[in-house]
Amino acid sequence: MAPTDTSAVERNRAIVISGPSGAGKSTILKRLFEEYPDKFGFSVSHTTRGPRGGEQHGKDYNFVTKEEFLDLVDQKGFIEHAQFGDNHYGTSIKAVNDIAEKGRICILDIEMEGVKQVANHPTFPRPRFLFLSPPSMEVLEQRLRSRATDKEEAILKRLKQAKNEMEFAKSAEAPHDKIVVNDDLDKAYKEAKEFIIGS
Ligand code: ADP
Ligand code: 5GP
Repeated sequence: MAPTDTSAVERNRAIVISGPSGAGKSTILKRLFEEYPDKFGFSVSHTTRGPRGGEQHGKDYNFVTKEEFLDLVDQKGFIEHAQFGDNHYGTSIKAVNDIAEKGRICILDIEMEGVKQVANHPTFPRPRFLFLSPPSMEVLEQRLRSRATDKEEAILKRLKQAKNEMEFAKSAEAPHDKIVVNDDLDKAYKEAKEFIIGS
């Protein structure tokens, strides 16, 4: 496996967006990519979770088996990887290098264990970290339920994990440069965009 192409990556400092499942990360990123179709590259993660309706292999995720995932772990093919709920998720070195080679700014949508690994990575250039928060846990639960993509058991795991994400964001260890509360979508998008594109 090729090492991280640090020179190419450094020219375009990456952005990490994190926050509880259901906070609105995908919604905000979709808008951003529609408004700026050539500026960013979404880091397509590997996951062992199955595709949701409409999700495309190679665009939203690389959907792989647990065996394929663990093989790539053994090959040291990931910049970071973590387990979330019952599934594995990881950012491959290749996903990030592909974006750097196109001269685009890399955007990673990852959970907190991955955030910690990226923030403490020995070679990956430090990205800028954006945390997207729901207005409250009640609203988060409503959004997860009305999204209707997960079974009850998975929703409960996501809500439990959401508490950990919120606690982490408040802790001294958190690397976040900016926290945006996604209450009104237009307002949250504007704030996130200002952070991401710097104007
Ligand atoms: P994430 O990617 O963080 O898991 P999503 O982008 O899938 O979250 O958003 C979760 C659900 O909440 C989706 O159904 C989305 O349409 C909805 N949603 C996102 N932002 C808002 C908002 N500001 N107000 C109301 N609903 C929202
Ligand atoms: P979902 O199943 O809702 O798409 O994602 C669940 C969680 O996994 C989200 O918090 C998302 O940010 C996170 N995630 C997605 N890809 C990766 C990845 O490559 N690495 C890590 N650590 N988390 C990821």
